[in-house]
Amino acid sequence: RTLTELETRLVRCRACPRLVAWREETALAKRPAFADWEYWGRPVPGFGPADAAMMITGLAPAAHGANRTGRMFTGDRAGDLLYATLYDLGLASQATATGLDDGLELYGVRVTAPVHCAPPANRPTTGERDTCRVWLVREAQLMQPTLRSVVVLGTFGWQAALSALEEAGWSVPPPRPAFGHGVRTTLTPAGPTGAEVTVFGCYHVSQRNVFTGRLTPAMLRQVLAEAAYTAGL
Ligand code: SF4
Repeated sequence: RTLTELETRLVRCRACPRLVAWREETALAKRPAFADWEYWGRPVPGFGPADAAMMITGLAPAAHGANRTGRMFTGDRAGDLLYATLYDLGLASQATATGLDDGLELYGVRVTAPVHCAPPANRPTTGERDTCRVWLVREAQLMQPTLRSVVVLGTFGWQAALSALEEAGWSVPPPRPAFGHGVRTTLTPAGPTGAEVTVFGCYHVSQRNVFTGRLTPAMLRQVLAEAAYTAGL
């Protein structure tokens, strides 16, 4: 299978009843500012080239961001900072992400999430996380020939990404590293032909983290730059 084929199947997934209901209800109960939008209201696939060397994975689509636009981190404040920083590092064609037809391209980077549907209060259950893991496992397996670094935004994503990468064929060194901003750990490939993948922890680019100064633009830039360097970008 290719990533495109995987995405075609993903956008039809209805495995989590609570999230299916929420993503569709939100698509109908639009924010006034987006009244003229036809919300995506489906699972949001990863975004970026299939041969990316670097993956960025967050938590889940935002109800009025990616669940509206159909692209990860597109159309919300968190994405504004993320894509502006990627542009600054030469990893994106432009600094802004507003919708599927905005012309944005990523260079060597793929942005995805461990949960592909918008959850109520931005909080998927652990059961929903486990149900959705199969998609991230397959995405990582398909990226395996080129993938060299992964930036994980936030604690929830950290646990989910390590489990998915393990299931995809990499070994996490014991003791299992805990999430922290600036933490990094190197996963070894299962087979002789695979390559190591270095996983970087980074506070989530949520509006709250940025507003309170827990994550500054400089802190984000540093982690992304290190991950890009590790990936040879
Ligand atoms: Fe399917 Fe994942 Fe959405 Fe659940 S969260 S319905 S597993 S795409």
